[in-house]
Amino acid sequence: MKQYIREWQQRIGVTADGIFGPATLRKSQEIYDISRSVNEEDALSEEDNPFFVRDHYLWKAGKMVTQKPSPNFSGGANIPEIIVIHYTGSNSSAGALSWLTQAGSGVSAHLLIGKGGEAWQLLPFHRRAWHAGKSEYKGISGVNNFSIGIENVGIGDEWPEAQVEANRLIIQALREAYHIIDVVGHADVAIPKGRKSDPGPLYPWEEVS
Ligand SMILES: [Zn+2]
Repeated sequence: MKQYIREWQQRIGVTADGIFGPATLRKSQEIYDISRSVNEEDALSEEDNPFFVRDHYLWKAGKMVTQKPSPNFSGGANIPEIIVIHYTGSNSSAGALSWLTQAGSGVSAHLLIGKGGEAWQLLPFHRRAWHAGKSEYKGISGVNNFSIGIENVGIGDEWPEAQVEANRLIIQALREAYHIIDVVGHADVAIPKGRKSDPGPLYPWEEVS
């Protein structure tokens, strides 16, 4: 935990003492506020997005998306900096929901997106979901500590338009709420390299981010 705070402090340019004190908090809030105001300006010229984030929960058109709380998360705060895209490895949304919310499965994610664009939230974004496993992003290990995990129902062989559109709009809403610096695939951060292959070569990166 201390190590993670130190790394965060180095990135935001405050004294890296490993303590989340007032200076770190102030600087963190500054970064969040800056990203929010920049994105608000952008949003004026962009299409309407029915998705938005409020208090770490995803809403769509004025209603919180369906909540399926998972017990599978670690203590401490997740500070979302990157988004990690997954597929579930099966075509059943019911099966995925059951597995991701079952105590003892050892896995979870923040969101699950169905093939028809349905979105379920399993954990609020400030919780540390168990989606990336052993992982590393640009030399920093423990991706679950600073990321949002989006699972997609499927095996990566096809990406229906409705699912892609939901990915695109939700990623946009997350970028408006958090200081997101990158959107990556599970395969990009899983270690050792080659341990995971999702979301696979057919995921339409250019359409969603
Ligand atoms: Zn994955």
